[in-house]
Amino acid sequence: NTSVNHLTVLGAGVLGAQIAWHSAFKGKQVVVYDLFSEALARGQIAHQQYADIYRKDLGASPEQIEQTFARLRYSSDLADAVADAELVIEAVPEIPEIKSQVYRDMAPLLPANCLVATNSSTLLPSQFAEDTGRPDKYCALHFANLIWSMNLAEIMAHASTAEQTLRSITRFAIEIGMIPVPVRKPQNGYVINSLLVPLLTAAQTLVTNGITTPETVDRTYMVMNRGVSMGPFGVIDVVGMKTYYDVTQYWGNLNQDEQALKNADYIKHNFLDQGKLGLQTGSGFYNY
Ligand code: NAD
Repeated sequence: NTSVNHLTVLGAGVLGAQIAWHSAFKGKQVVVYDLFSEALARGQIAHQQYADIYRKDLGASPEQIEQTFARLRYSSDLADAVADAELVIEAVPEIPEIKSQVYRDMAPLLPANCLVATNSSTLLPSQFAEDTGRPDKYCALHFANLIWSMNLAEIMAHASTAEQTLRSITRFAIEIGMIPVPVRKPQNGYVINSLLVPLLTAAQTLVTNGITTPETVDRTYMVMNRGVSMGPFGVIDVVGMKTYYDVTQYWGNLNQDEQALKNADYIKHNFLDQGKLGLQTGSGFYNY
């Protein structure tokens, strides 16, 4: 299994920007692709913020930061963005139609041996394998938010993923400092989100239904768990309101779950409609 040196990340949002920055920091050549030039600009602002965090929290030197920026390129032209890719990591919204379309648009543009991985939080790679045009070279590689400190990478195949693909993706994950977490059977949400999504849903339901406040839920959770730094609403701010909404709305519709759809409405009216997208924009349940 050869090393992947040229990476393209699809989507310059919360996770795409983190995956791209971190991979470049670890020495990979990275192209960040987004359909929208404003989103690419937001991704570049996020990279300035990550430069500060890596300096302060990880002790990165000015040379390391400079080299990281030098390894990053931004493009809103898909053909240009994937022309030299050895691996494409897809981090576009958690909306199946959008993911399918991106894969179908990309399929004829990819170099022959290029691997493709999805960073989806809750969808299965089998849902998109045919759209990629290369099911054997496709699997899930799921990162956790705040990638520099939460360095877990969940790796999950679908029925026709080649073993070689899993080996190369695992090697890539290790090369960028991740601890690979193998997921042995298809599971929506892998390990992390099988635990996290029900917790966030329970917390949001308490607040949507007026039982208590976000602060009370978070304080209770933090005492219960002896010193964790965040409660569920702190986590929702980190995830970002857009993705939290996309996940809640999609599964709410699919399962005809009225409470989940009420929770999605709550997020839309109180946050999305007001441009409060969570930590990344400085306000969500909390102000930053
Ligand atoms: P986001 O909404 O912050 O970013 C998505 C980006 O995709 C945006 O910049 C948007 O402009 C772009 N985009 C939209 N349509 C596109 C298209 N057709 N082509 C290219 N780009 C397009 O979302 P996010 O939170 O970064 O999530 C992205 C993926 O990563 C989702 O699958 C999500 O489940 C997963 N994920 C998110 C988190 C998290 O904590 N936010 C953690 C792990 C995995």
